[in-house]
Amino acid sequence: MKDCNQCGKCCIKYGGGDLNVSQEEVDLWELFNPDIFAFVKNYQIWHDPKTGEKLTQCPFLTITPQNNPHAVNKYTCSIYLDRPEDCRHYPSLISEMVTDECEMIEISDLENYKKAQKKLDNLMQDSRKV
Ligand code: SF4
Ligand code: SF4
Repeated sequence: MKDCNQCGKCCIKYGGGDLNVSQEEVDLWELFNPDIFAFVKNYQIWHDPKTGEKLTQCPFLTITPQNNPHAVNKYTCSIYLDRPEDCRHYPSLISEMVTDECEMIEISDLENYKKAQKKLDNLMQDSRKV
């Protein structure tokens, strides 16, 4: 299992319309992060604050500037510390990572899913804590 290389595939795939938030998360954003709350409509994320339209991409996914113009894009979450709990839990399953072509996966992980899942669970321990 490799470290996350910020390829952005997960945020590109799920950040547009497949993220869930709890009422509690939204209420906290409303109080402490109005810039995030602006993109919430009826407890659903993410919506354009001006038009109310549902967005097809997460508005907080940004391309990390790099020195080499030919380098592969790397992505950053601009609300990393306040990101939705759903995002904190990804990746959660090896099978899901394989389907999503997550670049943390190594050949050895494919040879033993159970062992790989243990490694992943250890790696994600802190991130999954609320
Ligand atoms: S909030 Fe952050 S972690 Fe979640 S989809 Fe958007 S960029 Fe990715
Ligand atoms: S798909 Fe995997 S390697 Fe790519 S950003 Fe998401 S967690 Fe990191």
